[in-house]
Amino acid sequence: MADSQAPLLVWFRQDLRLADNPALHAAAVTGRPVLPLYILDDGAPGRWAMGGASRWWLHYSLQALADSLARLGAPLVLRKGDPSAILPQMVAESGADIVHWNRCYEPFAIARDEAIKTALKADGLTVRSFNSALLHEPWTVENKAGDPFRVYSPFWRACLAKGEPDTPLPAPEALIPAPGVAGDALSDWALLPHTPDWAAGMRESWVPGEEGARQRLAGFLDESVGRYKAQRDRPDIEATSRLSPHLHFGEIGPRQVWHATSHAMNESGTGPSAQKFLSEVGWREFSHHLLFHNRQLPETPLRAEFGDFPWHDDRPALKAWQRGLTGFPIVDAGMRELWHTGWMHNRVRMIVASFLVKDLLIPWQEGEAWFWDTLVDADLANNSASWQWVAGCGADAAPYFRVFNPVLQGQKFDPNGDYVRKWIPALAELPVDYIHNPWTASEGELRQAGVTLGETYPKPIVDHDVARKRALDAFERIKKAA
Ligand code: FAD
Repeated sequence: MADSQAPLLVWFRQDLRLADNPALHAAAVTGRPVLPLYILDDGAPGRWAMGGASRWWLHYSLQALADSLARLGAPLVLRKGDPSAILPQMVAESGADIVHWNRCYEPFAIARDEAIKTALKADGLTVRSFNSALLHEPWTVENKAGDPFRVYSPFWRACLAKGEPDTPLPAPEALIPAPGVAGDALSDWALLPHTPDWAAGMRESWVPGEEGARQRLAGFLDESVGRYKAQRDRPDIEATSRLSPHLHFGEIGPRQVWHATSHAMNESGTGPSAQKFLSEVGWREFSHHLLFHNRQLPETPLRAEFGDFPWHDDRPALKAWQRGLTGFPIVDAGMRELWHTGWMHNRVRMIVASFLVKDLLIPWQEGEAWFWDTLVDADLANNSASWQWVAGCGADAAPYFRVFNPVLQGQKFDPNGDYVRKWIPALAELPVDYIHNPWTASEGELRQAGVTLGETYPKPIVDHDVARKRALDAFERIKKAA
């Protein structure tokens, strides 16, 4: 029989919060001592090990979680290594006989968790897993034929038809600590960059942790949700929630976002705009659905014909794109925003991604990998589904032949050029007529704005019209071969 005073181990992963945390909540209500644990697994999962920006975020998020848990009475224990080895060790050291966690959906996490669950159960432990990260888990949403969805709109309709997601759970008010088990010091994990410390812009831009997430959502619902629908495509205006890293690390969950938004909608009559916001949260759900049902999503195009796409191996062009030196201001502004803050506006993500895969013919996986390393919200489901969407090779993708013109996109979505001026100070004095295409300005106009193309700002690395034709020709080749 289980010893009712034996500790219960809660394994934190992408659920770094106390509120609406079902694994923690279910542990607290047992009245047993609780041992909260986070494991840093640097060895796995190979190519998709956490990138630099994510590690920066993780440091502060764990610090915030550790502070909150300490206030409740149960200190967070940190351990580094392979969870399949660490968990049995922790069980042996603490005497725990129950283990809880909230589910993750990356293919490697699913395989790892299944194996760990089987091994712990074989050792006589009780293992319970919960849903903290999604409104509806991937296997609970299916079409009339009982198959997974491949198109977003019917997927989201099916989610909405399921009715309100569960009401978020409260944070525990107190926890009974488990007898002391030694852990690592967070600073020993060296998650923060040094020599060089490239994170100054991130420190200015973000407050990782549950309280930062709560404030971000509250601020968005107070100030921006009513204009979200009209302005969400404008990178020069702060009209989106910027919740993505908080959602990725589970500092806030989608049920909390849903219910707080519905509440604000009823109070303030921001209906259609708030619905639009929730439907974007729906894209997050859809990406997880796609990844769960298509485990090859991060590496392999869902449309098989794209396996033979004649991509270019153009290292100098890739480097120019990564550093924001393509000579196309909206592209460069986005890449510099990413480098500085670890985040980029969604419209600009679409523009820079289209530029990489269509104007430069560089494989989408290269862009995906760069985003993985540099985004604070790097998320395997959202990142791979979005790259496949832009590259035209995903399930419900934008067609490949729709090639964004970076100048027209800039003029439409950054009409005064404020976003470009913010991220490319060298162009700040250019009149609005040339801000998205400086090469069309006269010598005199450039001189007056202090711009020397090729010196203070690059000349365009491609001619968009020529590049567009080249991309369409490449696409024709795979269409013919298919
Ligand atoms: P809001 O507009 O306020 O939306 C609210 C939430 O909904 C977001 O926080 C996010 O969790 C979710 N969401 C919104 N749009 C999308 C979308 N298109 N797909 C999936 N979820 C969405 N998002 C990530 O979280 N991680 C990534 O690694 C990522 N990589 C991307 C790569 C490319 C090439 C593109 C085009 C998009 C990518 N996105 C990614 C999706 C999207 O750009 C971001 O989620 C969004 O910009 C985050 O800003 P926000 O929180 O202000 O979004």
